[in-house]
Amino acid sequence: MRLIHNLISKRVKNLSPYLFVEISRKIAEKRAKGEAVISFAIGDPDIPTPSHIIDRLLQAAQDPANHRYPETDGLPELRQAIAEWYKRRFGVSLDADSEVLPLIGAKEGIAHIALCFIDPGDIALVPDPAYPVYSISTALAGGEPYYMPISEKNNFLPDLKAIPDDIWERAKLLWLSYPNNPTGAVAELDFFNRVVELAHKHDVAICHDGPYTEITYDGYQPVSFMQADGAKEVGVEFHSLSKSYNMTGWRIGMVVGNPIMVDALKRVKSNLDSGIPQAIQYAAIEALTGSQDCIHEHNAIYQRRRDLVIELLNSIGLEAKPPKAGLYIWAKVPQGYTSVDFATDLLETVGVAVTPGIGYGQNGEGYVRLSLTIPDASLVKGLSRLAEWRSLRARPRVKE
Ligand SMILES: *Cc1c(COP(=O)(O)O)cnc(C)c1O
Repeated sequence: MRLIHNLISKRVKNLSPYLFVEISRKIAEKRAKGEAVISFAIGDPDIPTPSHIIDRLLQAAQDPANHRYPETDGLPELRQAIAEWYKRRFGVSLDADSEVLPLIGAKEGIAHIALCFIDPGDIALVPDPAYPVYSISTALAGGEPYYMPISEKNNFLPDLKAIPDDIWERAKLLWLSYPNNPTGAVAELDFFNRVVELAHKHDVAICHDGPYTEITYDGYQPVSFMQADGAKEVGVEFHSLSKSYNMTGWRIGMVVGNPIMVDALKRVKSNLDSGIPQAIQYAAIEALTGSQDCIHEHNAIYQRRRDLVIELLNSIGLEAKPPKAGLYIWAKVPQGYTSVDFATDLLETVGVAVTPGIGYGQNGEGYVRLSLTIPDASLVKGLSRLAEWRSLRARPRVKE
């Protein structure tokens, strides 16, 4: 055993321990003891995939033509459906053959694109806090993430002017993601236009991750990075059917934009995977081209949950602002707690799981993330447990 351990590569040995493991372990422990844990910790839609999409999947599964190896670059009809969706949603024109590539979920493409750009010693500019895959894939490729702090002070947009020249020189990729996970922040077109200018100035390719553009509240309309002037000359956008159509379990997403970047990723993928099961591709075509009513229905549910969570959090003294888009509430932890202390205390005293902000980067300290992807009944129960936590903790503190 020990010997095998010694054989593990440095790149795997150096993988930072996955912070959520500890929380997951504690949740499992509690559940094993028969205690009901209510988890706000995971961003995985609780609402099923809409039935018209599943019907198409079942029908396609019956067809023997879909039982064989798919092509790496997906069905031409799927690439076309993605291009048409971008046109309809954002007014962005894409060439379905050279500027669109379906993925086995956005995460797969996000992880593999590092292999296309990052050599040992290269830098990827990564927001802090952020979805962990941007920095992990950079490190696995032998590169270094350079963290750009985002905080309430700068509306959770990185201060690109503050990046030193020697860092720009070594940087090959710049990662951004709006509507943002975990902070719930949004970016507007003028920001993306400035990003394109800086990409030209510093010779850096842009990777924008935008899986939450369809989950919006109060009529807000997020922009796509691809709408920026000249975006296609400098970068790509990752997108996904996971969050828009409750399809996390089916694993399908896409990358669109710069044809050289798309081609590089296609080359890596064609050597590593054998495409997306075709029945799932047909389901994705149905999702993108069929009725979009489900999106509005889901958003109405999330918006109601968002308002309940925000109201309760603010009433117990945890400062949180209602996000305009996305699935997450980014709440400040009470004075005197780290994000891990607070998450642990909630779990131990009232059986509520939230994600500590530090899991998304140093700059996520002081916050916890709550996901809106839990059924209404559990959500309401979870909120009353949070209120209970407040009264439990308020008592000794007042006396102190
Ligand atoms: C959920 C999520 C993804 C992953 O999407 P998949 O298509 O399910 O792989 C990518 N980026 C962010 C920011 C996410 O929150």
